[in-house]
Amino acid sequence: MRQALVAGNWKMHGSRASVASLLSELLGAVTAQQVEVAVCPTFVHLAQALELCVGSPLAVGAQDCSHMPSGAYTGEVAAPMLADLGCACVILGHSERRQYHTESDHLVAAKLTAAVSAGLQPILCVGETREQRESGAAELVVLGQLTGALAEQTDLAGLVVAYEPVWAIGTGLTATPQQAQEMHAYIRRCLDAFDTVDARATRVVYGGSVKPGNARDLFAQPDIDGALVGGAALIAADFLAIIDAAAAV
Ligand code: PEP
Repeated sequence: MRQALVAGNWKMHGSRASVASLLSELLGAVTAQQVEVAVCPTFVHLAQALELCVGSPLAVGAQDCSHMPSGAYTGEVAAPMLADLGCACVILGHSERRQYHTESDHLVAAKLTAAVSAGLQPILCVGETREQRESGAAELVVLGQLTGALAEQTDLAGLVVAYEPVWAIGTGLTATPQQAQEMHAYIRRCLDAFDTVDARATRVVYGGSVKPGNARDLFAQPDIDGALVGGAALIAADFLAIIDAAAAV
């Protein structure tokens, strides 16, 4: 039995005031239950979020990390720094990093190694663009991203994969529960081919315009183990409703 995970990707949003207010709403409502819940604010808000969430069921994670453990990498934040701060997880290979920062599978693989070595739980994002889906290449693209990120890894216990079709991120378009289930089942079959991953124990969460209105149908699918939530994670009532939908499965 895989425990559902609902993680909020706050992207480049927030101020100290909005972080305090969003977290106070979440902390007042999230109870230790069968769903694991995480929030991923910007780097500059991590310390504040960690301080507010200490001793609560809310885990805090980062949206990215460097591929190097330390050194002359101006502007970067290393995985051991995030672990030292108290972060539990880190999002890697998000499509916005791949698109705006030209992150390759090779770089994502190196970041994954850095995250795992630091003891952070990686949330590895994969997903195809609209053109790739329309041309029938979606599975091939996802397989390439998985292979690129995982092939050289030696210990992937605790890995979370987030299937995030690029065409559904921030667009209001969502994969249908059936489309998502098909890809999640495919991802699990691909994971089975890596001896470093226990595919049946690995959580595969869905991301792409998850909202209170579509969460329940998505979570009802047998291979959807929760969600990586963008826009709706910034609205406490919506994020809480998505957590409730995961708990209701
Ligand atoms: C995301 O950025 O990971 C995401 C899924 O965004 P949204 O929920 O806004 O589509």
